[in-house]
Amino acid sequence: MAEPDNWPARMASLNQWTKRGERAPHKPLLLLYALGRLQRNEPTDVSFTEARQPVDALLQEFGPPRKTGSHYPFHHLASESDLWVVSSDQGPGSPGSNIGDLTRSNARGHLAPGFSEALSSDPAQFALVVHALLEANFPETIHQEILDGVGIDVDQMDLTSMFRPITRRRDPRFRAEVLRVYEHRCAVCGYDGQLGRETVGIEAAHVRWWAAGGPDEIDNAVALCSLHHKLLDRGVIGITPDQTVAVSEHFIGHGAVADSLVLGFSGRPLLEPQRGHPQPAVEHVEWHRSEVFRSPRRHSAVA
Ligand SMILES: [Zn+2]
Repeated sequence: MAEPDNWPARMASLNQWTKRGERAPHKPLLLLYALGRLQRNEPTDVSFTEARQPVDALLQEFGPPRKTGSHYPFHHLASESDLWVVSSDQGPGSPGSNIGDLTRSNARGHLAPGFSEALSSDPAQFALVVHALLEANFPETIHQEILDGVGIDVDQMDLTSMFRPITRRRDPRFRAEVLRVYEHRCAVCGYDGQLGRETVGIEAAHVRWWAAGGPDEIDNAVALCSLHHKLLDRGVIGITPDQTVAVSEHFIGHGAVADSLVLGFSGRPLLEPQRGHPQPAVEHVEWHRSEVFRSPRRHSAVA
């Protein structure tokens, strides 16, 4: 258990994943929404009615691909932690987790005073807390989009130059190994650019997110160009059990470039790693399909 006023460590220890590894980023997204308001000096108290639409939109965009809503964290963050305080016409405490109860009783929430004071008086602490929430729940490729979504402006210098709590260490050899095994090529499009002798624009992607406990192992990895890495993490593209590329029906792109960079790969086989190395394991592929990929997949362009 983290110390009471070690705020970044407390963010990392929020209960964000179910036992079966399902994503539950509801509380972190509600906190990020509230932190955005705090940074913009908006009133600390926000009614459920006001928070509902923007938090629902965040959940839809960055949450798991299943039906979910802001009423859940609005209630549970208050009942399960002392970071978020809810009161209503019925008095202190949350009136319940269903939409009707929260709306009818004019439920209102705010960050706990000790928490919000600590962060407003110390921008570095604020940045650490935001970073801890992102790191514990989302892959790095989508951090900036979430910050834009909640309207938080974080000075990147604060994040990279300072100590931050480490709950689990990344394997520094992971990227190099993945790139070597895939011969420095994107497993979707085959892009293999170099600048001088250095690979450029190719990354080691986790299939099951690192934040979701995905291991730094070859059978949980693919080498991808920056675009296909981002699209994998956003659920635009996925991997089928027979190691072909799936493209979401929700993805739309009418131009020739979207066609050649994305739609045209639907149903195509993923590039294989070098002989003797495993392709992405079925369990990780299945996690990505149920937790990230925006089903259904398009019918493939190729036979
Ligand atoms: Zn690519």
